[in-house]
Amino acid sequence: MSNVDRMCVRLLAVSLLPLVIAVPIATGISAFYNALTQMGAPEPSVDLPWIVALVAAVACLVLFAVQATRIWQWKEGKSLDCPACGCLLGGARDGRWGPYRRCLGCRTNHSEK
Ligand SMILES: [Zn+2]
Repeated sequence: MSNVDRMCVRLLAVSLLPLVIAVPIATGISAFYNALTQMGAPEPSVDLPWIVALVAAVACLVLFAVQATRIWQWKEGKSLDCPACGCLLGGARDGRWGPYRRCLGCRTNHSEK
């Protein structure tokens, strides 16, 4: 796996995070609804598990679009790239020796100064 492949996987894997969080929540709410129904309570009128899954799916699509745009800008040469491997640099962070950016491909830190 090349550094560019690692960079793309790191960027696009983030877009799956809302779904990873929402599926257990929706499953728990669904189990709670089933338990309420089995106890004889009326079924809730709002289908909350469906709404949670829908919001997560929309968040996944938005995050995917943002990350795909970052990759596209990197391909066009409109973003900061790593001097060592040429991959996209992440956001600026404050470190012990001043601000730096981490390469999303080779994971080395590069000083902002
Ligand atoms: Zn690099």
